[in-house]
Amino acid sequence: MATLLTGGCACGAIRYACTAEPLLALNCHCRDCQRASGSAFVAILRMPAGAFTVTKGAPSFYTVAGDSGNKVSRGFCAECGSPLFSRLSASLSDVVGVRVGSLDDPSSYRPAMDIFVTSAQPWDCMNSELPKFPGYPPGVGSKQT
Ligand SMILES: [Zn+2]
Ligand SMILES: [Zn+2]
Repeated sequence: MATLLTGGCACGAIRYACTAEPLLALNCHCRDCQRASGSAFVAILRMPAGAFTVTKGAPSFYTVAGDSGNKVSRGFCAECGSPLFSRLSASLSDVVGVRVGSLDDPSSYRPAMDIFVTSAQPWDCMNSELPKFPGYPPGVGSKQT
């Protein structure tokens, strides 16, 4: 399959590639994403796990219980600290959440929604035209980002 998206960490030790279109594009405002990013929210592209490959290096993982209670393993570069992607708990292992900022070209990102907005900070600026959900949106179930 053709590579559609590529990205990697700041120091270049870790690279990844995606061979499918994203399933979903969302901004997550949960506290866990705030801690992991050091910022107001995380911009995420959900990719089919089978279409996502680490092509260089070996990310480190830190596993946390997300706001939904699901476990999420956050992959990052141990050398430069860049967050790269998240792998989800076993029942949701078909999805990888790629950090949009780690893409080589993040400019085409178009978020479809804001989620976990009840955790959003008062200084967080959101696009008022996007649908807002207090937690996960209906139909997306408990899929952790
Ligand atoms: Zn790095
Ligand atoms: Zn989150």
